[in-house]
Amino acid sequence: MDLVSNCKVSGATDLASNGQGASDCSNVKVEGESIDPYRSDAMVRCPCGSSSETESVIKCQDPSCHVWQHMSCVVFPEKHGEEDPENFYCELCRLSRADPFWVSVRHPLQPVKMVTTNIPVDGTNPVQSVERTFQLTRADRDLLLKQEFDLQAWCMLLSDEVSFRMHWPQHADLQVNGLAVRAINRPGSQLLGANGRDDGPIITFFMKDGINKISLTGCDARIFCLGVRIVKKAQCSTGS
Ligand SMILES: [Zn+2]
Ligand SMILES: [Zn+2]
Repeated sequence: MDLVSNCKVSGATDLASNGQGASDCSNVKVEGESIDPYRSDAMVRCPCGSSSETESVIKCQDPSCHVWQHMSCVVFPEKHGEEDPENFYCELCRLSRADPFWVSVRHPLQPVKMVTTNIPVDGTNPVQSVERTFQLTRADRDLLLKQEFDLQAWCMLLSDEVSFRMHWPQHADLQVNGLAVRAINRPGSQLLGANGRDDGPIITFFMKDGINKISLTGCDARIFCLGVRIVKKAQCSTGS
């Protein structure tokens, strides 16, 4: 049987320009101030991996997200002129707005920052990489056996000029459990333009029980973070 699905996605592009109408910079706390003590679900979750509260932090603007991140880890105002803290979203909230076809179900690998491993003296782009393991539970595996669920690797540029999109580093070399996975369709040396979008490869066929390994190497001067999520296909109206 041929299932023709006709996905009508509305409002996906509107989301990108729909900022929160807040006034002051109440989402920024300088060093020494503690984050809201009355919110038990407020926490520091930062792609650097540290949950330390001793430095300046910034809060995600998504009203249902109570995540704070270190200013120095995620905001690079020198990169794109003025960075507006009122429009700051954490990577997971950016991700959920980036791809209207997939809905995040769970994050077996929370966003982790790539680390520069080699800075060439000749001024060419530094090599950066990250290698992590993530665990898939029995429940995850059962879920992933279903047709509408998949495992996806994703990558984002921190402080991207376009907030709500995936973005892989130049010369991205992605491996899952030792097997090469094609991350991007553009040539490795080509930069992603302001109107471009990268995709997140589906890695369901590369997974195995228990501990899985993922690694990403790139050749890029900018700072990226990598994650793995379980996704569910967004509701589509199936052919009439
Ligand atoms: Zn941090
Ligand atoms: Zn968030």
